[in-house]
Amino acid sequence: MNYNTEDTIAALSTAAGKAAIAVIRLSGKRSFDIIGKIFETKTSAAKQVQYGCIVDGGEKIDEVLCAFFKNPNTYTGEDIAEISCHGNPVIINKILNLLYKTGARQALPGEFTYRGFINGKMDLTKAESVCALITSKTETAAKAALNNVSGEFANKIKNLKNDLTNLLAFMEVSLDHPEEDIMFLSRQEKQARLTLLIETTKKLLAIYKISESLQKGLKAAIIGKPNAGKSSLLNAIVGKNRAIVTDIAGTTTDTIEEFIDCRGVPLTIIDTAGIRTHSDNSIELLGQKRSKEAAAKADVIIWVLDGSAPFDNNDKQIADFIKTENINTPILYVLNKADLERQSEKWKVESEINDKSKNKNEQQNDQSEKWKVESEIAVNSQLPLKVSSLTGDGIPALLNAIAKIAGVSDTQNDLLMINSRHYAHLENAFSALTKAKEAYALEDADEIAAFEARATLSELNEILGITTSQDILDTIFSNFCIGK
Ligand code: GDP
Repeated sequence: MNYNTEDTIAALSTAAGKAAIAVIRLSGKRSFDIIGKIFETKTSAAKQVQYGCIVDGGEKIDEVLCAFFKNPNTYTGEDIAEISCHGNPVIINKILNLLYKTGARQALPGEFTYRGFINGKMDLTKAESVCALITSKTETAAKAALNNVSGEFANKIKNLKNDLTNLLAFMEVSLDHPEEDIMFLSRQEKQARLTLLIETTKKLLAIYKISESLQKGLKAAIIGKPNAGKSSLLNAIVGKNRAIVTDIAGTTTDTIEEFIDCRGVPLTIIDTAGIRTHSDNSIELLGQKRSKEAAAKADVIIWVLDGSAPFDNNDKQIADFIKTENINTPILYVLNKADLERQSEKWKVESEINDKSKNKNEQQNDQSEKWKVESEIAVNSQLPLKVSSLTGDGIPALLNAIAKIAGVSDTQNDLLMINSRHYAHLENAFSALTKAKEAYALEDADEIAAFEARATLSELNEILGITTSQDILDTIFSNFCIGK
């Protein structure tokens, strides 16, 4: 990416399309000069926000407000001008083209934030979080990203760096003056300090799973035999009648997707067609194929069982399907229709799952039971959740269970956005710190420990963007949208 910082750049910073207003932003040495050539105003030049017209020669293009921000206290660290014009794509394009004609260049993706980064206005974790903040799909995810933008994650890394630098000084004193015993920390003290650093790093590593869930979200596929209540469950979760509910088996022939905020986790729920292998209806068969595909791609499977009816051959086929195709996907078992009386004593999933002591022969001999699913369910050693899609009972518990799979709990207060890049460096830091600590079991400990401590410092510097290569910076900023 050719980020020539000598140029003055311009781009639309608000979303494209029609709106009451749109904001066009300029940044660079010539921002004020360029605006001066196309903006006519009667407002005093001393005012930071001025009302006037954008004109191209004699032609008036729009009535606008122009805001002027003098460097260095700006987002990019450069002179910035912002034109608030009417949000009509025709006007926006005319103003942008006029700016390009007058000496500005079209900004590349993420170029405003890139300039802020290289001009020392923000470290790399903050710059990355600006993108995460814009794309956050839930309030909780936005809060986590904002904590990063406010510097909370960077501060944790900087604190780690300070403690490590301090410890490294003691390690290096021991290296330079092995015979003296002033200013020395004992091996045990050094190990204790390294243990604290390892613990802090471990805590940050643990946040990654939550950050990832908050940022990327989860996909949940609802599966189950026809009429188990899959569509009803989706409706009960989403809280509106998005999916078609009917008592004729096999009417949900395609997959339906809905998005919800599940305890802060962006959750896409996919209602699939009932999985039934003996269908002679080709559309329904296609739906079942999609249903299997959706289940195979999901992060969590919600298997809806009809708790008011016995486990039948259809349920058995689903159990077989789960067993053969989705071994690693977490499965939540939902016993739906909890509001109805159980029809018979045949439905004994709960007790059977708990009954680990029951021997296999006994189970096989028990011919009175029409179903043999207990072993399949017991693989995940999970109790089914009793739900009524009709009354909504059990839905909050189901949402909690999904959030738990995403690693998010109610008591979560350390919300940060740790992305895969940060995670990789933190893992390296963790491993180097562990090696440094282990070194104290050896003779020439300080030399090895100091080497590993320096390696840790360089990993932490990578996170903050202090030593990050241009290639990596290009990759990070090219994922931004234009205008950011
Ligand atoms: P699907 O084929 O699995 O999507 O099942 P539907 O959601 O279309 O539901 C099938 C039938 O069961 C409909 O008549 C629903 O009204 C009914 N049903 C679904 N959930 C419940 C429930 O929790 N309680 C009761 N009493 N009926 C339900």
